Parts: sequence; structure tokens; C-alpha cells
Amino acid sequence: MVEELSLFLGGEWTTGSGDERYALVSPVTGQHVADVPIPSAADIDRAVAAARAAQDEYRHWSAFERAALLHRIAEAIEPMVPEIARIQTLEQGKPYHAESLDDIAEANEYFINAAEDVKRLRGDVIPTTDRNKRMFTFHRPVGVWAAITPWNFPVTIPLEYLGPGLATGNAVIVKPPPFTAWALLELAKAFDEAGVPKGLVSILPGGPDVGRRLVSHEGIDGIGFTGSSETGRRIIAAMGIKRSIMEMSGNGPTIVADDADIGAAARLAVYGAYYNAGQVCCATERVIVVDPVHDAFVEAATAAAAEVRLGDPFAPDTTMGPLNNEATAAKMDRHLADATERGAEILVGGGRAGGFPTDLYYDLTIVDGVPEDAALATEESFGPVLPIIAARDDTDAVAIANRTHLGLQAAVFTSSLRRAFWYADHVRSGTVVINDSTDFWETFQPFGGAAGTDTGWGRGSIEEFTDLQTLVIDTENVR
Ligand code: NAD
Repeated sequence: MVEELSLFLGGEWTTGSGDERYALVSPVTGQHVADVPIPSAADIDRAVAAARAAQDEYRHWSAFERAALLHRIAEAIEPMVPEIARIQTLEQGKPYHAESLDDIAEANEYFINAAEDVKRLRGDVIPTTDRNKRMFTFHRPVGVWAAITPWNFPVTIPLEYLGPGLATGNAVIVKPPPFTAWALLELAKAFDEAGVPKGLVSILPGGPDVGRRLVSHEGIDGIGFTGSSETGRRIIAAMGIKRSIMEMSGNGPTIVADDADIGAAARLAVYGAYYNAGQVCCATERVIVVDPVHDAFVEAATAAAAEVRLGDPFAPDTTMGPLNNEATAAKMDRHLADATERGAEILVGGGRAGGFPTDLYYDLTIVDGVPEDAALATEESFGPVLPIIAARDDTDAVAIANRTHLGLQAAVFTSSLRRAFWYADHVRSGTVVINDSTDFWETFQPFGGAAGTDTGWGRGSIEEFTDLQTLVIDTENVR
């Protein structure tokens, strides 16, 4: 059965005024499972106008009223978790039991955390040279945000904008890619149920055209973007003067020092390569192993890879599902061909697995002897691959790790606290995780990168959705 989906536009469920439909084909089954309406230019204008009108009123709600609304949204989501998780697996491909359920079970936290944070969001009292003046700052909402989001975490990434955006008094229009918009549209029913003012939230699935229109729209005040660095560059060039939060690509190194627990390092590096089939911005994209432990690491990683179960993502024992789309699978093919041409050796996997309903099921792959100039080492692969690069010593390992323009999240395995801090001081990365996977993540973790992978969000997110307003009072002239 093909599900006919609607846009969530200005608080209404509608197929919009255009006749373009995206045929959503599941990467799991290869079947056409839903038709997604694509909003027309007039629909986008309508959503922006509705957002502006709703935000004009909503911006005056107190922080406590907004927090209460967010708690109601969180409560409304809870009974929907299994169904949203099911749809997410069907459209995105991640394993239902091993990943999707946990992922969606956290969805309420984005609203609860933001509701708690906003109650404690304070301005400053600033000393003045003029003794008659008093100076304060207030956090004011930016206005209407467009959140342009990727397909790898189709629900939780939009919530990184919706939670703090609504908490601080903004309206948010989300543009997910049409091929992973269904689960988010399902979650949007919670906005209705919780009594979110009509127009404050819209969900407008679409491709780059819809994104471009929102980015350059005069009625949009802020752009939240999570996606590739290439697209991020284009958006920065096109958006003009708008507030923005840009979260982009990663090329996360895991460094294994010669005093590491090799079993744990191998297991967690392999996890960082296969979790969500490697389609994670902080996936383990490269493993840099210090020479003396290279062979032991390879042996342990090969053993850990044998435990991974590629298969039907709805089956309870499956730990890795298909890739989401052909572009990602083709990139994996290209990176592996390039690495072998340059002399690297494939130890495990190495291509598409046969015998599944689609061609997107990809074997977990381990590649040893990856030269530093191979695409596997220099670019984000975004698939289930563990490229191993040998380093002479700690200094060499850091030099290799830092040869990236995408320093989002790194991991280091070592049993020495001194070494852990040394690595943290030297690796250029937004987050350095010691003795766990690069995929370590908590919903309230400050997340952002060094070396060109983002433009903000270092401290946490709530303030970034606000403009600071300074209020100056002259006490001399007041009665
Ligand atoms: P993408 O850049 O292709 O697309 C992201 C979004 O931008 C989509 O909604 C797309 O339709 C839209 N878009 C494309 N061109 C546009 C344009 N010119 N103007 C406006 N919008 C446009 O990225 P993707 O393939 O969907 O996602 C994978 C990427 O996202 C990876 O690089 C990954 O590392 C990154 N990512 C980063 C984080 C993070 O927090 N840093 C989290 C998840 C994913």
C-alpha cells in the first residue's frame, strides 16, 4: 500500500497547491511505500507568512509558558515512539530494535531539555561609566527559522532545532529531504495534540529547490543547517544577512595508542564504522594505529567485525541495515576502488552484499594500509568502512589525525591519563572522546567542530536561537 502523505503547513495538514509528488522507495524493501507532496513556491510563502504571524504573538509568552508547551509536546510523543521508529526504519534503513527505537525514545528529551534550559536563560547586568545609567541584556527570539536537515537521523536532527527554537520563542519551518520526511511528519501530529499555535511549526519536505527558496526568503530570520560541508558553503554564500547555525561533515579519526586496551579499541572502532551503517557525521572514518599494536588491532577488529549482522533491519538480531541511498553506496564503491588502486588491502567485506531486496545492503568493510592521500582517508566516506592507517608514534598519529578539514569528533584509546590529556591538547577536533567510540553522543552534549565543520554551537544550543538585546535606562530622567 502506498501512503499518501500531507505537508504540515501553517498548522494544517494539506497536500499543498502544487502537484509535484516524491515517490518514496524504501531502501529496505525496494518498494514504493509513500507519496510525499513537495510544496510549491506559494506554499512556502504561505508557511513563512503563517510562521511570522504566529511568532509575533508567541514571542510574548513567558519562558515558563513556553516550557510548559514543550513538556506537553514531549508527553504527546511518548505513545507514538514505536510507530515513528517503524517508519524511520522503513524509510531510512537503520535497524529497528538495535537503533531506531532508542533513537526515537529520546525524541522527547529534546523538548524536555530545552524546556528546562530556557527557564534558566538569563541576561546580564552590565556596569556603566555613567553613574546614572543602568544596563541589562535580554535574550530575544530571532524570529522565524528554517531548519534544513539531512537524512541520516531524520527525526532527531530536526528536533535539535525545534526544541531550543520553540523554547526561546521562535517559529521553526523544517525542510527534511523528501525520502526521509515521513517519520518526522508522523511526529508532527504531537504538535497538534500539544496545542502548538497554528503556523509556529511547519514541516515542508523537499530537495535543494525548496531549501534554496527558504535560504533566500526575506521572511526567514535564521538558518539552521545540518548536512554536508559542500552544501553548507553554498548556503552561506546564498543566505545574505541571517543568523545561522551550521553543522556539517566529519572525518572522525580514532587513534589507538600503544598502551590501549586493544580489545575495547577494536570493538568500539568497529561499532563506530557500522552504527547506522556508518552514515553518521561523527562515525569512525579513520583508525590511526600506532605501529607496535597494529597487528593485534587488525586481528581484534576482524574478530569484532564477524559479530556484525547485516540484514533485514526489522529482524531482532540485525545490527546493520542497508545504506539509505544509491549516492552513498556509489561513494563507498568509489572510495574502495581508489584505496585498492593505491595499494590498500581489503581484509573484510569490500562491496555490496548480494541476496537482499535492494542493492543498498553493503558489507562492513575493513581496509588496511590505507595511504594518507586515498579518498578513504581524506574525504568523509559515510558508509560502513574502517580504514586503518599506521602511525610511527603519538606525534605522527596526531599529525595524521589533523590532516583534515573536518574536525568534528575524534576518539583516542590509551590507558594513560597523561597521554589522554596530551592527545586532547593536540588533536584539532570539536570533541575528543577518550576510550569510547567517536559515535558517543548525548542529547545535551555541546557539539560542534574545529577546522571548518561548523560555525557555532560550541557551548550548547539555547542561546544561539536568540538575539541579545541591550536595555539602557537613564535613572536621572525617571520619576
Ligand atoms: P546534503 O548537504 O546533501 O543535504 C542536507 C540538506 O540540504 C538536505 O535537506 C538537502 O535537500 C538540502 N540542500 C541541498 N542543497 C541545498 C541548497 N543549495 N540550498 C539549500 N538546501 C540544500 O547532506 P546529506 O547528504 O543530506 O547529509 C549527510 C551530511 O550531513 C554528511 O556530510 C554528514 O556528516 C552531515 N551531518 C552533519 C551532522 C552534524 O551535526 N555536524 C549531523 C548529521 C549529518
